[in-house]
Amino acid sequence: MAAAATTSASTAFSSTTDCCNQGAKRVFRITALQVASTRRPSAFKSVRTINTNACTTDSRCSFSGFTKTATITASAKIIDGKSVAKEIRDEIAIEISRMKESIGVVPGLAVILVGDRKDSATYVRNKKKSCESVGIKSYEVHLAEDSSEQEVLKYISGFNDDPSVHGILVQLPLPSHMNEQNVLNAVCIEKDVDGFNPLNIGRLAMRGREPLFVPCTPKGCIELLRRYGVAIKGKRAVVIGRSNIVGMPAALLLQREDATVTIVHSRTKNPEEITREADIVISAVGQPNMVRGSWIKPGSVVIDVGINPVEDAKSPRGYRLVGDVCYEEASQIASAITPVPGGVGPMTIAMLILNTLVAAKRANNFK
Ligand code: NAP
Repeated sequence: MAAAATTSASTAFSSTTDCCNQGAKRVFRITALQVASTRRPSAFKSVRTINTNACTTDSRCSFSGFTKTATITASAKIIDGKSVAKEIRDEIAIEISRMKESIGVVPGLAVILVGDRKDSATYVRNKKKSCESVGIKSYEVHLAEDSSEQEVLKYISGFNDDPSVHGILVQLPLPSHMNEQNVLNAVCIEKDVDGFNPLNIGRLAMRGREPLFVPCTPKGCIELLRRYGVAIKGKRAVVIGRSNIVGMPAALLLQREDATVTIVHSRTKNPEEITREADIVISAVGQPNMVRGSWIKPGSVVIDVGINPVEDAKSPRGYRLVGDVCYEEASQIASAITPVPGGVGPMTIAMLILNTLVAAKRANNFK
């Protein structure tokens, strides 16, 4: 029954995307879409039939033209990362006050930014703001684009030795003349709050070993599933993307939670078919709206990590952010889904400050 629904849907969805470079940011242009929902209305809690040439169902919709009469439903629960992240920040703030009152220590996070990428500067600013909001002291080093790797290593070494710094974060990407591996390896494992040190990743991959830190974005995905009561044990999970910072650790984490995990990447044959088997989908690809409604098994849970700028003449910035997953299609088929923005993004920073608190507690043997 479910298979029949998804197969018929797959024939109805089609889109093409292309992208162009605008400064440092990749902005995608969405060019076409045809949507005709073929699912039976009886399968949904609420059904609205609309006849429209523009998508009115969701302000996040990236598509300019609906060319058929579409039966639109809104059945998926929205997994609200923004409010969960706030809940977590509030919990962290309480813990930090308790620590400060008990032992007079506040956690410290050092952030090293190299170069003038606007997006990196924004991420660093947001991290700093979040740290301050919960009482973490932040230390920032901003180096010029043409700084040497030695200079970065010198700052890392200083922070490694500084007892008031409990976490060190090197904002990626680094300029191309630097060896990212050398730089990340220099962060001592006890302060590796990004969880990128190979020792931490290795432990994450091994049974019976515990990493000191888990990378923030995948950790945020699992935390969202946990806080929304989504069972993982024994479920089929598909992770789309296998990057060191998101896809690969997300797959390892799901496996540790006893899911049966498949990884889809750019060379995977039949990604749509494989994804449609999943009870849980985590997508971290960086392609706007690549995962269509027809990829989603009815009732599955979808976590969309992708943050992709797409052209939008109506937006004052000329672009807006969409995920890897076509939200307006997938939200009609999944049982729960994260929006973009407001899903995984806020969770990444929440996990970073959580990791920093954990580092400070560990360093001071504070329970
Ligand atoms: P990345 O390093 O570029 O990795 C992308 C992965 O997607 C690669 O493994 C690649 O496969 C795979 N891929 C690319 N095209 C594909 C296709 N057509 N079909 C299947 N797989 C495909 O990207 P990333 O750093 O993991 O980031 C992914 C997305 O998440 C981006 O949009 C990024 O902005 C976003 N992100 C969000 C957060 C957050 O806080 N929400 C944090 C980090 C990243 P191969 O390995 O075969 O090349």
